Amino acid sequence: MSQTALNPFEIAQQQLDQAAKLLKLDEGTHQTLRNPMRELTVNLPVRMDDGKVKVFRGFRVQYNDARGATKGGIRFHPDETIDTVRALGAWMTWKTAVVDIPLGGGKGGVICNPKEMSAGELERLSRAYIRQIGRILGEKMDCPAPDVYTNAQIMAWMMDEYYWMNGQNEFGMITGKPLELGGSLGRSDATARGGVYCVREAAREIGIDLNNACYAIQGFGNAGQHAAILHQELLGKGKLLAVSDSRGGIYSKDGLDPAAIVAHKQKTKKVSGFPGAKDISNEELLTLEVDILYPAALEQAIHKGNAAEVKAKLICELANGPTTPEADKILSGKGTFVIPDFLANAGGVTVSYFEMVQNHYNYHWDLDTVYERLNQKMTSAFGTVYQTMTARKSDKIDMRTAAYLVAVDRVAKAMKLRGWT
Ligand code: GLU
Repeated sequence: MSQTALNPFEIAQQQLDQAAKLLKLDEGTHQTLRNPMRELTVNLPVRMDDGKVKVFRGFRVQYNDARGATKGGIRFHPDETIDTVRALGAWMTWKTAVVDIPLGGGKGGVICNPKEMSAGELERLSRAYIRQIGRILGEKMDCPAPDVYTNAQIMAWMMDEYYWMNGQNEFGMITGKPLELGGSLGRSDATARGGVYCVREAAREIGIDLNNACYAIQGFGNAGQHAAILHQELLGKGKLLAVSDSRGGIYSKDGLDPAAIVAHKQKTKKVSGFPGAKDISNEELLTLEVDILYPAALEQAIHKGNAAEVKAKLICELANGPTTPEADKILSGKGTFVIPDFLANAGGVTVSYFEMVQNHYNYHWDLDTVYERLNQKMTSAFGTVYQTMTARKSDKIDMRTAAYLVAVDRVAKAMKLRGWT
C-alpha cells in the first residue's frame, strides 16, 4: 500500500460519482448508491488459549440488495476498518451486477491477525462473529464467503454456528465451503480462473501474443497462486517472470515454475529464498518489464508514486481496489489496458452464486459444468464492458469507467423498478 493511503470508501464514492455523471443518474438514485443500506458493528469476546478474554471488533456491511441478497466475503485483517468494508461492499455490488447474477453486494471484516492466532482461537472468533451477525444472514438476506485470510474451514465453522443458532442446515447461507459440506467444485480457483479468462479476451482485443507474453504476480494468496498456474494452463506458454507476497518477491529472467513456487511457499510460508531466483522487493515487481501484471494482494498497490513506472501493457486486477484513482489516470494516459477489479475478480462470486444454486437444489454440478458456465459469464461480462467502452469513444472512457456504467445502470434500474428511487 502507498505511504499516504487514501480512504478506500472515498475512492469507491469518487468512482461512482464519475459513473453517475456519465449515466446522468438522478440525485436520489445517486445518493442512495453512495452509501451502504445497512451496516452492523459488533464486539466479539473470545477466550484465548492463555485463558484470558480478548475483545475483537467486527463489521458487516449490506451495501445494496436491490438485485438480490447481499453477497460478499469476510476478511480477517489487522488493518481492517469500517471504511474498507464499506468500499468492498460497494465493489461487491458492482461485481455481482457486472456479471449479471441475481445478487446484491456486501462485505464483512474482523480486526485481528490470524497469523498470530491458533486454530482454536480462530474457530472461537469465527463462531463468535456468526453469533453476532447471524441474525442478519441467510440465503435470501446476506450470504458471506471467504476473502483475505479466511478460508473453507472458517466457512465450515461459520455455517455450523448458524446451524446451532437456527436448528437447520441452511448450506446456502455461506459459500466457499468445503466440498464435504455443500461447497462447489471449482470454487477454490474461481477468482483466478475468471481473471485469466478476462486476460484471454483482453489479449485478443489489444493484440498480445499470449504464447510469447511474460507475466508477473503481486500477492501470492489464493488468487495469486492459482493465477500463476492457470495462466500457463489456459493461455499457453507465457513465461512467469516474478511473484511476490507480503514479505518480498522473486524474479528469474528465464521464467519460474508456478507449481514449484506454490510448494516452496507452502513449506516456508514465503516466496523469497526460492532456489535459482533473485530476491526482489514488492515495489520492484510492480515496475518490471512484463506484458501482463496481476495485482493480487491488497488495496492501493499501484498509486501515483509508481504508476508512471509500471511497464505492463495489460493489468488484471485480481485484488480489490489495487489501483488508486490518480494511478488510474496515469495508466490510462499512457495506454495501459486495465481489467478493473470488480470485473477481473468476479469469478469467485460467480462460482459462489453457482454454489448457492446447487445448495438450493441439494445437488452437485460436475467440474466441467462449473467451468463452462463460469467461462460463459466472464466472457460475456468482459464483452459487454469492452463494447461499452468502445461505444463511448467520444467520452474517452477506460475499462473501469465502462464497467461502472454497466453495473451502476443495472443496480439503478432495479431500484427504480422496485420503486425505491
Ligand atoms: N471475496 C470474494 C470477492 O471479493 C468472493 C465473494 C463471494 O464469493 O461472495 O469477490
